[in-house]
Amino acid sequence: MSLLQVRDLSKAFGGVRAVDGIHFDLHEGELLAMIGPNGAGKSTTFNMVGGQLRASGGSIQLQGRELVGAKPRQICHLGVGRTFQIAATFASLTVLENTQMALLSHHKRLYHWWRPVRDQYREQALALLEQVGMAAHAERPCSELAYGDVKRVELAMALANDPRLLLMDEPTAGMGPQERNELMALTKRLVVERRMAVLFTEHSMDVVFAHADRMLVLARGRLIAEGDAHSIRNHPQVQQVYFGSGKTFERPPQEPQP
Ligand code: ADP
Ligand code: MG
Repeated sequence: MSLLQVRDLSKAFGGVRAVDGIHFDLHEGELLAMIGPNGAGKSTTFNMVGGQLRASGGSIQLQGRELVGAKPRQICHLGVGRTFQIAATFASLTVLENTQMALLSHHKRLYHWWRPVRDQYREQALALLEQVGMAAHAERPCSELAYGDVKRVELAMALANDPRLLLMDEPTAGMGPQERNELMALTKRLVVERRMAVLFTEHSMDVVFAHADRMLVLARGRLIAEGDAHSIRNHPQVQQVYFGSGKTFERPPQEPQP
């Protein structure tokens, strides 16, 4: 069954049609990539699904419930999560503490001042860290971690909200090729195990072709192709967008490590 149904979705900024009438479905257990050149409308689409931007037109339904017009908090409670970067202020907390904070926030418990954070949701936090392969690092401050490990903790924190759909906008930015592949392989495993779905953007075509179940190609706000790796690779319009513009399916130069 389709988890997310996007129909005729549009967003205009003044005269710019950032997203121009796109349709797609996302199914349980699916890792769906949204690709396209810079300015294609990928982030705008993500922000409409997450409720940070209001659509100019069209519909976004999660398990039959309309998300257009809902506030980000409501959309989050309906089961749409997104990965967020660990704020600099939380970098001094341990991996475990950050994950516990995410669980506390999900369960909206007020802090019990008589009960230290270290006792709350400890087991659940450890279980999440186990799922992302970070349990052995639970007691380390996030500031000490390698970049790829920080991304795993951020994934555990996003899972604390128990999303049905997880949005990941450029989750592997700043990572080396091996780390990218490891993070996406982990994400795919979690999608299947937790019976959720992921919509992600990614610059590296190698990563997309290796891990995505299906891909959507956007260009100038329009959906120009949809399909598996084979059909996308051989799609004339996609080749034109990538090759015609001088871009290729090769990985772009690495972003600097933050
Ligand atoms: P992508 O994530 O695919 O690179 P974006 O969704 O960020 O693309 O942008 C799509 C288009 O919308 C671009 O032309 C961009 O300049 C424009 N745009 C995005 N956000 C805004 C905004 N807040 N105000 C005005 N124009 C915007
Ligand atoms: Mg973007």
